Amino acid sequence: MTTHTVHPPPAGVIIPAGGSGSRFGHATPKQFLDLAGTPVLVRTCRAFLEVAAIRLVVVAVPAAHREAALALLSLHLDADALARLRVTVGGATRQDSVRAGLRELPADIGLVLVHDAARPLIDRATIERCLEATHRFGAAIAAVPVTDTLKQVDPDGRILRTVDRSGLWQAQTPQGARRNLLERASAEADRTGLVCTDEAALLEAAGIPVQVVEGSERNLKITRPGDLQVAAALLEEALPMRIGHGFDAHRLVTGRKLILGGVTIEYELGLDGHSDADVVAHALTDALLGALGLGDIGRHFPDSDPAYKGIDSLLLLTRVAQLTDERGWRLGNADLTIVCQRPRLAPHLAAMQTNLARACRVEPGAINIKATTTEKMGYTGRGEGISAHAVVLLKESAWK
Ligand code: MG
Repeated sequence: MTTHTVHPPPAGVIIPAGGSGSRFGHATPKQFLDLAGTPVLVRTCRAFLEVAAIRLVVVAVPAAHREAALALLSLHLDADALARLRVTVGGATRQDSVRAGLRELPADIGLVLVHDAARPLIDRATIERCLEATHRFGAAIAAVPVTDTLKQVDPDGRILRTVDRSGLWQAQTPQGARRNLLERASAEADRTGLVCTDEAALLEAAGIPVQVVEGSERNLKITRPGDLQVAAALLEEALPMRIGHGFDAHRLVTGRKLILGGVTIEYELGLDGHSDADVVAHALTDALLGALGLGDIGRHFPDSDPAYKGIDSLLLLTRVAQLTDERGWRLGNADLTIVCQRPRLAPHLAAMQTNLARACRVEPGAINIKATTTEKMGYTGRGEGISAHAVVLLKESAWK
């Protein structure tokens, strides 16, 4: 005899994104606004597209916003994600938009989650909890217990009474249901003219039990302008980071060009080395590799390899910047110090900054370069060589 695991049916997500932004005081609907570098709607869709059990995400927008929504999502999501996404025209109310979304879902989608477009900080664990409970109980929503003391207040602002908050929860989204249950509740509301602010209320009105699962305090709804700042601050707090340090020194000799940060500097001596001996580019490259936990420049570009003889070190930096990108990180900022007695480097620092920023594909402002002497002390002070230090901060590119 074999035992069968009952797999949940494929799930779909409907994101009603019909908000006009009237409460927000913006001409642009809030779901199209930028949140720490990525539009709110893109973040919301991405959160669901990262859950493998979700087959299709349907965004329901007013007809006037359809083109803008499509353009925005196409710009930010890759082809695989876009293949699991549809943008449809929603209705005048949330219920109409959910109904329009239901029509877009293929017949084999048995579980449906509905999620507010303006809740971009929804996390995978909450989505999965909600999906699991929807499958198990038939209908489930994410919610958080009320923690503040509740007061019932009269129109003059006077407290009538303190409301017992035990057993009170604040409803969030996602709100999920088996498809047939949501369709039934939706049709009944249509017939009775019931208008609800969430899907759970529709289901409740149709007599369908709804399970509450733990939501998240972070899953805030962006309603007022200050909410965007709060959401951005929450993202920064969660931002995974890595730091790296790089140091390099090369000897000054006759008969070589002096190249620092990709800038050829007029001087009677140049730095000796297998490559172009650009200590500044080397220090930064090593700092990036250090932050990635990938060893050092010598391991990636050995000086025993003739391919790197005389090579422009900015090319090596460009390759390591690509590697950084491939590993899912991006350069937050870099700070470099060049230790050099002579020549004077101040006139060249801006050009170096431009070169390094271009190689790393970041804004020049993300790269700071300082030059110092050692007051004629040590090998750099005696003019025998030049050294450079670099520190970098990498941020996870998923948060871009
Ligand atoms: Mg070197």
